[in-house]
Amino acid sequence: MKLPICLADAKIGILCPRCEARLERGEITSVDVDVSFILAKAAKDIPLLDDLTLVRAREIEGDLVLILGSGDARRLLSDPAALRKLKEYLHNDRLWITEEGDDRRFIEYLLHPLHVLTLNTVWLPDGSKTTRVLVAGRPGRGSGVDLERAKRIIKAIRGLDLEIRFERVQAKKRAFP
Ligand SMILES: [Zn+2]
Repeated sequence: MKLPICLADAKIGILCPRCEARLERGEITSVDVDVSFILAKAAKDIPLLDDLTLVRAREIEGDLVLILGSGDARRLLSDPAALRKLKEYLHNDRLWITEEGDDRRFIEYLLHPLHVLTLNTVWLPDGSKTTRVLVAGRPGRGSGVDLERAKRIIKAIRGLDLEIRFERVQAKKRAFP
């Protein structure tokens, strides 16, 4: 496991002077530290965590976002039992998993299990821009993704204004062309 703090610090639950100084300088936050302590503890119960990298942990109005290393979000998101346990350890049901990298990848994982079809930057007449995301399916609560919270997180962390549109999958509607 790789964390924003030393692994040894995380295991004993105390920061070394170097990490303490980084915290004071604002290079890491208390959320990074708290989540690192918890992940180190949870790894005994959730072995998958040993293989993951936590780049940063962010808290946005009660939502907890874990930004993982490249390739790690997919592994964690495809293990519902590990995710459920992790939420228990973190005492937070509003847990979001994504990874560092470009905007598209960040957004795709954050919106999981919604499937992103396209993602485009659209310039508005006033010179501002919006990021238009087309996802498969139809709007509603079925996906389990709270879109308003997702938008808030993406704005806070990536600085993007997101506009989400749905496209219904047409497969079954073509019986009588
Ligand atoms: Zn340290």
